Amino acid sequence: MKGGTGRTLALATMLALIVLGIHRLRGPEADVEVRDTRYVFGTLVEIVVRGADPVEARTAVSATGRLLQTLHHDWHAWRPGALSTLNDAIADGRAAEVDPQLADLLRAGQQLACASEGLFNPGIGRLVALWGFHADTPPQSPPPAASEIAALRAADPQMTDLVIDGQIVRSTNPSLQLDLGGYAKGAALDLAAADLAARGIRDAVLNAGGDVNVLGDHGARPWRVAIRDPFVWGALATVTLDPGEVLYTSGNYERYFEHEGERFAHIIDPRSGHPVREIVSVSVLDTEGVRADAAATALSVAGRERFAAVAAALEIDAAVMVTDRGEVLATPAMVKRIEASGGPLPAGLTTVALPADVQPSPCGAQTGPEPS
Ligand code: AMP
Ligand code: MG
Repeated sequence: MKGGTGRTLALATMLALIVLGIHRLRGPEADVEVRDTRYVFGTLVEIVVRGADPVEARTAVSATGRLLQTLHHDWHAWRPGALSTLNDAIADGRAAEVDPQLADLLRAGQQLACASEGLFNPGIGRLVALWGFHADTPPQSPPPAASEIAALRAADPQMTDLVIDGQIVRSTNPSLQLDLGGYAKGAALDLAAADLAARGIRDAVLNAGGDVNVLGDHGARPWRVAIRDPFVWGALATVTLDPGEVLYTSGNYERYFEHEGERFAHIIDPRSGHPVREIVSVSVLDTEGVRADAAATALSVAGRERFAAVAAALEIDAAVMVTDRGEVLATPAMVKRIEASGGPLPAGLTTVALPADVQPSPCGAQTGPEPS
């Protein structure tokens, strides 16, 4: 998964982009804010609970923080843990038993990969590693040889190669290597939000470097979140989140390396085996972190031409995309939400309608691990 302590300062600053709602007065605890911050999933994740009994809130944020730490460990592709054990088994042609949450996450990955027609593909871990994006720090070496990329493309790992029978997982293709970095953060924040709710917390925000899940409506004004402008320091737009909504952004400014003046970003187009170039950032507003996270990655691969079709196939209504030429494309639902939040619309914005005649997905409906 993504990492790099060098970016900690920038991420910490980004956490400040969350504009906290003014809190409705509900008694002495109304303005009490309790937080916990962890470095997991390659970023600083801040859990903020407001308006709860401080002792209960502290117990809840600590427990939820520990849950995130456990999921980070279990779902890490490149450090010893449950997922790397599974990857070792797949490479050896063996089956492995995983816990129910990981099995659910893999099933969700199959569904999302199917709906995105393979543009989102958590089975391309070998390509990710070949480009050097498996390490905590961005790669320093030149891009890999064309022959190595071609060999991994020819091996064609697909999520449909995974056979998941309850908790027993195997792959019919030994070149499949799972890297859940494109949607694990969203799935983890969904589970963390459900965990907070189960502990009686009504109003909270989970902020993972600008990827956000909110709980409750919490105050006289709801939570408001800034979408980062990928070109200059500041906000592209502001969105007001309804209770239970999430906002996730993928950007090629997040993790990349440069070689001979060319930028190579960490999102890889499984069709070419090369990093995505055209799209600088994609933000998705939804009600499920797992789907929003995967969709932001998938839409970065889809590019401007397939933006609307892939958003519709993933059942995403509200998304905004910034291209390398500075064009901003947004679905009508996203334009409405930006407008309703009272800020100015981004310069150069084009509204892109979603196709009206989307067929029901043949990929199944489940997208996230069920809270246990
Ligand atoms: P995100 O920041 O959510 O877009 O996730 C990017 C991460 O997902 C990368 O660092 C890789 O670990 C992984 N990844 C890269 N390309 C893809 C892809 N096409 N589908 C799924 N995961 C990907
Ligand atoms: Mg993602």
